[in-house]
Amino acid sequence: TIHVKNMKALLVHASETIIENEPLLTKIDTVIGDGDHGIGMKRGFMAVKKMLEKKEFLEMDTLCKSTGIELLKSMGGASGVIFGTMFLGGISHMPHENFADLNQIASYFADGEAAIERRGKTKPGQKTMLDALMPAISAMKQVAENSGEIRTLFEEGYKGALQGMEASKTMQSRVGRSKNFHESTIGLPDPGAVSTSLIFKAFAEEIV
Ligand code: ADP
Ligand code: MG
Ligand code: MG
Repeated sequence: TIHVKNMKALLVHASETIIENEPLLTKIDTVIGDGDHGIGMKRGFMAVKKMLEKKEFLEMDTLCKSTGIELLKSMGGASGVIFGTMFLGGISHMPHENFADLNQIASYFADGEAAIERRGKTKPGQKTMLDALMPAISAMKQVAENSGEIRTLFEEGYKGALQGMEASKTMQSRVGRSKNFHESTIGLPDPGAVSTSLIFKAFAEEIV
């Protein structure tokens, strides 16, 4: 079981990790984008952190919904919708209170991923955050199927995200602003994929 309190701690640490890494995200988006990804993510996750610290949550779905809404409200740009949807896409199918098992956690993120594909009209392979999110989910699903431990779920999720972020370096952008940079996008990771790997890194660090 993962309790609302645990999930909240993961989200707070993810927020701190994104905020700390703003310079890295800015640097990448400056080369293969319009340079605003770090600032946008920092703004979004500062708003999330503030909201999480102020409010008390008794329900998992409310916690996840509030996180997604806060990102949508405060970020703007493509990534406001994309990262908002990462947390909002699964809220109608998720448990109302605690996550009872690993499958429910993997499914929550898988539903978010599917919603991003629909909203963004993208699939993995086009050099977006989905290239980190998809392998994270596949890894988590595998741990859930083998009824592993919750720590393993998030550790493997992070490994998947990291590998996916690395793989995004070899891809040419086919979507979003970076598409206009054509072949010169090859060699750098997708900024959103870096953000996604940081979020899963934070989850893996914070889970007990
Ligand atoms: P913008 O592109 O509006 O300046 P950001 O720089 O904040 O927004 O975010 C760019 C990131 O958003 C990309 O690196 C990519 O991961 C993600 N992204 C952009 N468009 C899409 C899309 N259609 N589907 C999935 N992810 C996307
Ligand atoms: Mg940008
Ligand atoms: Mg922009």
